[in-house]
Amino acid sequence: MSEGPEVKIIADKISYLLKGKEIEDIIFKNLDSHIKNKIIGSELEYIKPFGKNLVFKFSSGIFLRNHMMMWGKWRIYDRSKYDKGLAIPPPRRSKLKNLHSLSTIKKEKDVRNDSRVRLTIITKEAVLIEFNGPILQFSTDNPTEKEPIKSLGPDCLNQQIFDKEEIKKRLLIHSKQKELLISDALLNQKIIAGIGNKYKSEILFICKINPFKQISQLDSIQQNHLFKEIPKLLKYGYENAGRTRPLLTGEQNSWNTRHWVFRRAGRECWICKTKIISEKKLTARSTFWCPYCQQ
Ligand SMILES: [Zn+2]
Repeated sequence: MSEGPEVKIIADKISYLLKGKEIEDIIFKNLDSHIKNKIIGSELEYIKPFGKNLVFKFSSGIFLRNHMMMWGKWRIYDRSKYDKGLAIPPPRRSKLKNLHSLSTIKKEKDVRNDSRVRLTIITKEAVLIEFNGPILQFSTDNPTEKEPIKSLGPDCLNQQIFDKEEIKKRLLIHSKQKELLISDALLNQKIIAGIGNKYKSEILFICKINPFKQISQLDSIQQNHLFKEIPKLLKYGYENAGRTRPLLTGEQNSWNTRHWVFRRAGRECWICKTKIISEKKLTARSTFWCPYCQQ
């Protein structure tokens, strides 16, 4: 689950450890030999997040666009451990029978043998690995000038100014074509970039907005509240490793305490004690909400 804040966190980590470092090797199935030869010996010039996309630029002019969707993940390993077979891949999750159990069905001991590895970038000191893909596109032209990045709506984490007027304009355009629910509109990357299912549910809870309201049903107070809280919560998630709820004194940071409503179906609302509901049919993706606080 990689939404804007989590994508920015991994971009920072990769940038910190690999920026300016010479690429000694790259392993990617069916990589065009011309592109491979240009990357080897070049340096990672930058890595930048654009909404939920990551864009790498190598000093030889090659670009890489990645979108992790629901499954992709990046890990950075120490080169000497990798060479010795001591770099351990992340655990595999069970078939999501219980999202919180995270039970391991099989532990790989050496990342080099892990079938989920899609891309490996090797420098003298570090090895960057991407698991599961699903989108890894190499190109000689800049992906930010092409779809889908070109049409992204304002990105309030990565742009200096949070352009709410532009978002309002895009909301109007999209809701003219088809009446949109606010919970679906927040997921539309052409309206606003970087929000996924988690931040959608959390933002609507904080603003006490019913997720099944249509855009046209939101009054100006609700709209202003939304535009105030969106950049605030994304920044909070970025600064707190994806956590969206402040912990109370003595509270442990756990899957149950990290969020207001997200993945807390059946648990008590932190504010009113009503049971949190997960709705899967009315909205494009599952929505977690409190039926009392968000009337
Ligand atoms: Zn509540």
